[in-house]
Amino acid sequence: MHDRDCLHRFLFEHYPIRGHIVHLDAAWRALLEHRDYPPAIRDTLGEAVAASVLLAATLKFDGTLSLQMQGQGPMHLMLAQCSSELGVRAVARYREAPDGRDLAALSGEGNLTVTLENEDLSQRYQGVVPLSGERLAECLRGYFETSEQLPTRLWLHATDKGASGLLLQRLSDDSVHTRTGIKRPFELPERDEIDDAWRRVQLLGDTLRGEELQTLSDRDILRRLFAEDDVRLFQSSPVYFRCRCSRDRVVGMLRSLGADEIRSVLAERGEVEVRCDFCNRAYRFDPVDVEQLFATTPAADRSETRH
Ligand SMILES: [Zn+2]
Repeated sequence: MHDRDCLHRFLFEHYPIRGHIVHLDAAWRALLEHRDYPPAIRDTLGEAVAASVLLAATLKFDGTLSLQMQGQGPMHLMLAQCSSELGVRAVARYREAPDGRDLAALSGEGNLTVTLENEDLSQRYQGVVPLSGERLAECLRGYFETSEQLPTRLWLHATDKGASGLLLQRLSDDSVHTRTGIKRPFELPERDEIDDAWRRVQLLGDTLRGEELQTLSDRDILRRLFAEDDVRLFQSSPVYFRCRCSRDRVVGMLRSLGADEIRSVLAERGEVEVRCDFCNRAYRFDPVDVEQLFATTPAADRSETRH
């Protein structure tokens, strides 16, 4: 049985190269619950979710990593987010079912944006590249080639049952060993040798079939790909579906729309219902709730909304 709903980190003992493998199973199915995405969109969303976990895992930060695709095609928006605690959520918006599976058919021309935000939004990093390649993994390859980040490759696979991904990253030095306090048992080889190893592990990564990535255990994946290398596999961390929506956030959003707007919805429908885009949870406000929303608004705002 393969590893489920977890992230595994691994390290090449002889080279400054590390990797992560992630599988989302129950977390992915929970994320899809109440959703009826066309398969091409669903699978790409799964790849994006797996990628967001892999990228979040490479970073030392406290906050949320977002992967967003925006384009002119049938799927105009896709957003996958992973927190530093490995909680994921994601959503895709589309006008119609796409004709194909590749990014051109799904999103058309557009951009891929990677955003990193601190929990208190005090720090923000954003990188944007045009959508390119057939799949998200290729587009991300372009992202890493053009950005000033560590050389990184991803392999992604998703179906209705699960979403999985493999990441390989070349480190600039021995920082992981230093940071984790693990003593590398060997001297680092010359740069040429590291270059060769980096090329070789990527070629090996290219031989991994999506189905293998999804069904083999992580230990078997590493054995299958890197039988020649000494690879250290660390303990896994759980990955789960977690939405950060709350009634408080919805209240804030309703207040920002203003009393007139909300009261008119109330007059029309008898209640105000807001569904979270990510988890489909419904937040309902009856007439009493709505009056309470605006009763606590500062006086200045209240007089404005009366006009
Ligand atoms: Zn939610």
